[in-house]
Amino acid sequence: MSDRTGHCLCGAVHFNARGMGDTFSICYCDMCQRWGGGPYRGVSVPSEKLEITGRENIATIQISSFAERAFCRNCGSGIWWRMVAGPYVGKTSIPIGLLDDRSGLTLSYEMFTDYKDSTTEVPSGTKQMTKAEVEAIIASFEPGSDA
Ligand SMILES: [Zn+2]
Ligand SMILES: [Zn+2]
Repeated sequence: MSDRTGHCLCGAVHFNARGMGDTFSICYCDMCQRWGGGPYRGVSVPSEKLEITGRENIATIQISSFAERAFCRNCGSGIWWRMVAGPYVGKTSIPIGLLDDRSGLTLSYEMFTDYKDSTTEVPSGTKQMTKAEVEAIIASFEPGSDA
C-alpha cells in the first residue's frame, strides 16, 4: 500500500489517495477502450481514502447497471471507475496515467483478454523514440508556418 497523488490533464482535478494498492490491472473491454481510447490500466484505492480537490469539476456517467465512470468536465480525462452495485462497492479504480509517480506498480491481472488484438502488441523492432527525441522534432516546428 502506498500514498499517491495525481491530477487530470488540465489540473482542475487533483487527488491524494492513501493506502492505494501497489498493483494494477488492465482491461480490454469495449467500454474501457471507448472511455480512454485504449486498454484501461487501473489501480484500486478504498473510496473513503480518496481525497479530491476540484470535485466540482468532475462529472460522472453510469453506462452499465453496476458501475460509474468519472471524468474532468474541463479536459475530459477519465478520473475513476467504480462499482455502484455488488461486492466491490467501496473501492475506486484510478487510471494509472493520472498518477504523479507510477514507480513500484506491478501488473496483477488482465481482464477481457479475449478482446486483445494486434494493437495491444509491441512487435520487436518497432521504432522507439524517447522524450528528448520527440521534443527535438517539436522544437523544429515554427508556429503558424503552415498557415
Ligand atoms: Zn482536467
Ligand atoms: Zn473494461
